[in-house]
Amino acid sequence: VAKSCGKNMYHFYTSDMNEKLLEKLEMENSLRHAVDREEFVVYYQPKINTNDKSIAGVEALVRWNHPTNGMIPPNMFIPLAEEMRLIVPMGQWVLRNACKQNQIWKSLGCTDMSVAVNISVIQIQQSDFVQSIIDILEETGMQPSSLELEITENIIMKDFEFTNKILHDLRKLGIRISLDDFGKGYSSLNYLRQLEIDILKIDKSFIDDLTKDHNEQAIVKSVIDMAHSMKMTVIAEGVETWEQFTSLKSLHCDKVQGYLFSRPLPVNEIEHMIEEQEKVC
Ligand code: C2E
Ligand code: MG
Ligand code: MG
Ligand code: MG
Repeated sequence: VAKSCGKNMYHFYTSDMNEKLLEKLEMENSLRHAVDREEFVVYYQPKINTNDKSIAGVEALVRWNHPTNGMIPPNMFIPLAEEMRLIVPMGQWVLRNACKQNQIWKSLGCTDMSVAVNISVIQIQQSDFVQSIIDILEETGMQPSSLELEITENIIMKDFEFTNKILHDLRKLGIRISLDDFGKGYSSLNYLRQLEIDILKIDKSFIDDLTKDHNEQAIVKSVIDMAHSMKMTVIAEGVETWEQFTSLKSLHCDKVQGYLFSRPLPVNEIEHMIEEQEKVC
């Protein structure tokens, strides 16, 4: 009995694996097509100044507008895009798109808006990465000082010296660098000191418990103070309640981002939100 049961299990397992493999192949195929056909859309989430609740800038967040499955969130395709290295053309498309959009907003009167774009470790590893950024800036007329690039800790852990040199080159161009999801990975405060970054984004996981947990509040406070002492700007991610906002304000956090103010929105909706505030655009 045990033997036949084992056999059945084995059979079940392989067909399940085949199915998974087929699914992945299908996904790879449609992702390749998606890059060729530019099936992506950029959504924008505002970054809010803590002192007066004004919009400081926006973060570009990509979505895959799949012809039959609808809008697919980035967590569902970025890992595969990285594995297939399709993140390189995709990332460039997002950057170009965001720069173009920022130029449109500028021409409408929003002169001090900044735009942040997420960058994958695979992109940074390309030997022509910095040049590709320069090319897009020239092509779109985007001011480097209005551009922020968001990187995560795993990029730095890969090859500290190499990455830091690239960050140095980007900063020399006038681009600002954000460290995204800070605290989520194996952050070492030691490397933070040597790192070429301008902005620290505190991960949502710290913000979630901020108003419930005294220890969490102490950690966030010391991260903010430490970042300020290193002349960095601090942004809190995933702010969902006024309680969190008030607490972050009292800790002198410079900016916040989160559903409390807005979800990531398509261009026309974010434009509406900016117009409401600025009245000049
Ligand atoms: P991220 O860069 O850390 O972006 C923040 C994510 O948190 C976004 O998810 C945003 O919608 C979500 N978020 C913002 N505020 C709140 C909140 O108050 N509550 C909750 N629950 N969530 C909030 P999204 O848009 O699904 O993006 C997920 C991740 O995908 C991003 O995390 C980023 O790592 C990656 N990603 C997005 N666009 C790109 C891109 O163009 N290139 C690369 N390489 N990665 C991207
Ligand atoms: Mg980000
Ligand atoms: Mg983040
Ligand atoms: Mg994230």
